Amino acid sequence: MKAVVYEKPFSVTVRDVDDPRIQHPNDVLVRVTSTAICGSDLHMYEGRTAAEPGIVFGHENLGIVEEAGSGVASLAEGDRVVMPFNVACGFCKNCLAGETGFCLTVNPGFAGGAYGYVAMGPYKGGQAELLRVPFADFNCLKLPPGEQHEADFVLLADIFPTGYHGCELAQVSPGESVAVYGAGPVGLMAAYSALLRGASMVFCVDRVPERLAKAGQIGAIPVDFTEDDPAVQIKRQTKGEGTDKGVDAVGYQAQAHDARHEEPGVVLNALVETVRPTGRLGVPGLYVPSDPGAPDEHAKRGRLLVSIGKMFEKGQKMGTGQCNVKRYNRQLRDLIIAGRAEPSFVVSHELPLDQAPEAYEMFDKRIEGCTKVVLHPGHALAA
Ligand code: NAD
Ligand code: ZN
Ligand code: ZN
Repeated sequence: MKAVVYEKPFSVTVRDVDDPRIQHPNDVLVRVTSTAICGSDLHMYEGRTAAEPGIVFGHENLGIVEEAGSGVASLAEGDRVVMPFNVACGFCKNCLAGETGFCLTVNPGFAGGAYGYVAMGPYKGGQAELLRVPFADFNCLKLPPGEQHEADFVLLADIFPTGYHGCELAQVSPGESVAVYGAGPVGLMAAYSALLRGASMVFCVDRVPERLAKAGQIGAIPVDFTEDDPAVQIKRQTKGEGTDKGVDAVGYQAQAHDARHEEPGVVLNALVETVRPTGRLGVPGLYVPSDPGAPDEHAKRGRLLVSIGKMFEKGQKMGTGQCNVKRYNRQLRDLIIAGRAEPSFVVSHELPLDQAPEAYEMFDKRIEGCTKVVLHPGHALAA
């Protein structure tokens, strides 16, 4: 089958790899119809991780069950399903508590597994024609048959739940004001989720014009961090108080406010400034325990200069970590079916799998209005 394979920094290729096969009675094989590229894929693409050449990318996958193992109870050939990016067992201590992003079974020695991701276990990615899904009864979410809402439903694999998770970590409640840093796909989904949860005022900070425009389009207030200190801009619009809640949807690749170099702690510090005393910060943006390409010795070891003193003084609380997609994907699916949510506004490009090399380059450079790319391995859905 054809798959998107990592070659070297800034280079992926589409080539033939072995077809996956059922390895356990509770596996299914899914024929992928839609698979999205994620900001997290860019960390591997840019060569910032230990990802080895040959790895098949893709953790945001939707498709049709092609074959079900003999032990699969709830799924049959022909079912349309979307998989959380987390691979999880469903029966360990963390899964039972709903913390499926930290499954203790699927990736020995590490809490959490994912498809097509370095250090997240042996699971091949779904930017390919076929995907093997382990613990399939637990990991597949059934969708209505047909092709309706394809671009909305594929976002249930990661960014819609992840944006929602940012709001959950920050406990965004009706009537509150929220500052979301980052208007990439995760930031836009966090802003959208804050509005779904009834926030009265949502700011969305970035510098990419097309992304800020999308934030404005959904009813958030765009803030360009290159114009002036974003915390100052937001305080000006909140009677000097700051927002009730804040979400970091940028992570360790944050750019300094002059946009000339990376400053991995800049968003965390901006959030501490932006959020009012006793407010809460949700941090779905990714931070890593080691980053050889980081700008200083501490950051290389995942240690950032964060104003913990100011955070203490303000009595703020913070939640962070991988999204437990399974905790939210069913409810968010039902919002889409009911016509109450349409997250696909974030999708700027739908392309055939063969165009993955161009898609990665465009998304990485944040050019051509590229906010989110969905790849279609099949021909039927290819745009
Ligand atoms: P992205 O790279 O497309 O978006 C990040 C955005 O942040 C960009 O638009 C960039 O211009 C902006 N930005 C950079 N510096 C900034 C600053 N100082 N202030 C405000 N904005 C700034 O990535 P994405 O796909 O939206 O993902 C965002 C983060 O979420 C990444 O770190 C990704 O790895 C992480 N992520 C986490 C989870 C999870 O489960 N926790 C899941 C998916 C993605
Ligand atoms: Zn992702
Ligand atoms: Zn588990």
